[in-house]
Amino acid sequence: MSDLSVKNLTLEYGSGASANPILKGVSMELQRGEVVALLGPSGSGKTTLLRAVAGLESPKTGSIQIGDRVIFDGAKNIEIPAEHRNLGLVFQSYALWPHKTVNENVAYGLKLRKMPAAEIAVKVKEVLNQLGLGHLGERYPHQLSGGQQQRVAIARALVYNPPVILLDEPLSNLDAKLREEARAFLRELIVRLNLSALMVTHDQDEAMAISDRILLLNNGVIEQQGTPQSMYETPHTLFTAEFMGSNNKLHGRVLQRDGDKAVIEVNGRQLNATVRGANMSQDATAIIRVEKVRISQTPSANAIELPLTTCMYLGNRWECLFGHAGEGIRAYAPQRLEAGNYWLQLDADKLWLY
Ligand code: ADP
Ligand code: MG
Repeated sequence: MSDLSVKNLTLEYGSGASANPILKGVSMELQRGEVVALLGPSGSGKTTLLRAVAGLESPKTGSIQIGDRVIFDGAKNIEIPAEHRNLGLVFQSYALWPHKTVNENVAYGLKLRKMPAAEIAVKVKEVLNQLGLGHLGERYPHQLSGGQQQRVAIARALVYNPPVILLDEPLSNLDAKLREEARAFLRELIVRLNLSALMVTHDQDEAMAISDRILLLNNGVIEQQGTPQSMYETPHTLFTAEFMGSNNKLHGRVLQRDGDKAVIEVNGRQLNATVRGANMSQDATAIIRVEKVRISQTPSANAIELPLTTCMYLGNRWECLFGHAGEGIRAYAPQRLEAGNYWLQLDADKLWLY
């Protein structure tokens, strides 16, 4: 059985003529022990979906089930209040109580639930130990680093042993380096404790690193879902292809097509490519990941010749731009390249048409 099941959920803000549809029929499942990332651009409805599951927003139609318990059903007028849904919530702003210690922050919800003090002390100690915060129980939030505050927020969500935790951009207040460490920590924690987690992020690298499955939301509908590998390697739409990686985008005219193989013309040059989009038209958009472009100093097959414009040092490699920004091609090189013309090989199976 799924830990969380959402069916055909719709939600709008406002009502009547000024109603603004935000979720337009979203369905998803979260299996026991699974981490699902809810990915999408800003404004696509990620937070709204998470808040609807938590009971902080009222959907219009559809249903939400946790385990075998229906917590929302538009048709049957069922809407269980947030405090009875028993979900762990972690938000971007940790919202810790500034005048309570770490222990008191984590214990607060259990106190509200009238759990006996001795039992609370045991639970708080256990969860703080699990998060590597055991020695910090007496500190106040301002005496902790950002990463530690964030762990306290997670501890507070986990102390109830909720079947599902919901996290809304939990790492985005951390600076880049800390964020990568926290990402590994969070993934390890979720796996170790066998939690089921739904985590919102707008960062595709973070989504791929942390999740077993990604749901990509586009303007209130799920554009595509699948494992991080399938989302990255077999995007069905241009939106997914563009969102999941670092890309070169070319516009071409389709000259020939045979099944998923096609020949396109880009700036007077013919290229073999692979059809990916179900609705490709005569004027197609071709996408190739930056890391898939091969740089050659001699004329090559299925290649575009362009002058080198600039190379940028990235530490472990160089990113080079050929032609003009916006309409040129970017590729990675192991070292800085000499000025001159290059042939950029766009292998047919990696040049995707939509
Ligand atoms: P995301 O988390 O993906 O960035 P949100 O779910 O926060 O997106 O927002 C989706 C859309 O709903 C946005 O267009 C936003 O402006 C709108 N929205 C969010 N909250 C409210 C609200 N309380 N009232 C009206 N519109 C809202
Ligand atoms: Mg959001």
